[in-house]
Amino acid sequence: MNIALIAHDKKKPEMVDLVKRFKHVLKKHNLYSTGTTGLHIMGETDLNVNRMKSGPLGGDQEIGAMVANHKLDIVLFLRDPLTAQPHEPDVSALLRLCDVYNVALATNINTAEKLLDSIEDE
Ligand code: PGA
Repeated sequence: MNIALIAHDKKKPEMVDLVKRFKHVLKKHNLYSTGTTGLHIMGETDLNVNRMKSGPLGGDQEIGAMVANHKLDIVLFLRDPLTAQPHEPDVSALLRLCDVYNVALATNINTAEKLLDSIEDE
């Protein structure tokens, strides 16, 4: 499967922790990320991630284009709901496209864990 991993700045440590805990699952799939999230993941694990541009510089839109082109099966997007984002329109657009194309989407750790648990045997 093709899985996108995105985390806003305050959520990046949680994303890296999640990736480490589910490395045995994630290593079986193709991973994509926004730029800085991918840097953090690759800096702290030996997983390979296909990095797009940084989120505020168009990375969320690149991931959205992948959703619209049926290139992603799962999006794990750890949003920071307590900090205003300069690229909020891009964030909303990505979430919307996941619903348009019925792509499995987690926006918090609890849901992300349950989603990754559900594909553990695939
Ligand atoms: P980043 O982008 O991984 O480049 O920080 C995440 C985002 O803000 O969408």
